[in-house]
Amino acid sequence: MIALLDKLYAQHDLTKEEIIFLLKNLDEEHKNVLFDYAHRTRMKYYGNKVFMRGLIEFSNICKQDCLYCGIRVSNKKVERYRLTPDEIIDCCKEGYRLGYRTFVLQSGEDFWYTEEKLINIVKNIKKLFSDVAVTLSIGERSLSVYEHLFKAGADRFLLRHETASKRLYEKLHPTMNYENRINCLKGLKEIGYQVGAGFMVGLPGQTAEDLAEDLYFLKELNPDMIGIGPFIPHSETPLRDADGGTVEDTLVMLAFVRLLVPDCLLPATTAMGTLHPKGRELALKVGANVVMPNLSPIGVRAKYELYENKICTGDEAAHCRQCIEKRINSAGFEVDMGRGDSLQSQKKA
Ligand code: SAH
Repeated sequence: MIALLDKLYAQHDLTKEEIIFLLKNLDEEHKNVLFDYAHRTRMKYYGNKVFMRGLIEFSNICKQDCLYCGIRVSNKKVERYRLTPDEIIDCCKEGYRLGYRTFVLQSGEDFWYTEEKLINIVKNIKKLFSDVAVTLSIGERSLSVYEHLFKAGADRFLLRHETASKRLYEKLHPTMNYENRINCLKGLKEIGYQVGAGFMVGLPGQTAEDLAEDLYFLKELNPDMIGIGPFIPHSETPLRDADGGTVEDTLVMLAFVRLLVPDCLLPATTAMGTLHPKGRELALKVGANVVMPNLSPIGVRAKYELYENKICTGDEAAHCRQCIEKRINSAGFEVDMGRGDSLQSQKKA
């Protein structure tokens, strides 16, 4: 086993079979070796900096019906909201004052935001702040919309692949199509976005083989960013009685990703912080190097309920900024308020 871990550390590569073997046989001792190698790799590529992104959850209205998600169209209990373009800009202004230089605009698949409206929002943000990066996380649109948004100034796009197992993907996404998701990701990359893919850990029916598929898929796609979090069951969804993912399993996947795609940006996700009071700090220690504090108006935070018991729903943006910095420092790292472009994109530039 140690030989495989050494190979992973030295070459950042393993076969799918080797990954499956490790996932099935990793004991405590070797897990610690994996974590240590992941941390060293992060230090080598990105040093001890943690990049901050201001997250603006601008609409929880969604036409899709993903089985795991609390804002799926079939959930009639969630109170729906949509920020106006002006309200989104106000969140950015507040974020800019607090030092943020990257804004992540995330929403359900809400087509009230037409191509034209989205273009105007992106253009306005870029006009107001010439030194910020704009990241979109708005789900699936046509490649031509993606292209026009890129031309309008959007720099990055987050679209998790959710699971690389076609079997699982189709079970979990009755209104969506696996090939289409993958084509969106490839298209976004071709257009020139810095692209974020990623997956959930602990989905019902997810096997070690499925997780190896995720890792292998990411190695091939080689995205700039990789978002990984535990699946957390929501009581108003069909998966309410599922077990959900664990912090420990998610840490293993984070460490694997840091080793397989060493130059990627890897967030310590809010879902980790929700499952464990030190979840994000633990993630930072096994290779994660991004955090995404919330800039959404406090009144809407709890309504953006992908899963329940989400943290930080009552904290002012300024408070979140301070709190997260303390956490980052306590884990032995330092905040970087810059744009935080991926190493891959810096090489291309
Ligand atoms: N509509 C956008 C944004 C989705 S929300 C899109 O399609 O990309 C952001 C992420 O939250 C999703 O990609 C999914 O991986 C995650 N998520 C949704 N429900 C979740 C749950 N119950 N537990 C954990 N993560 C969840």
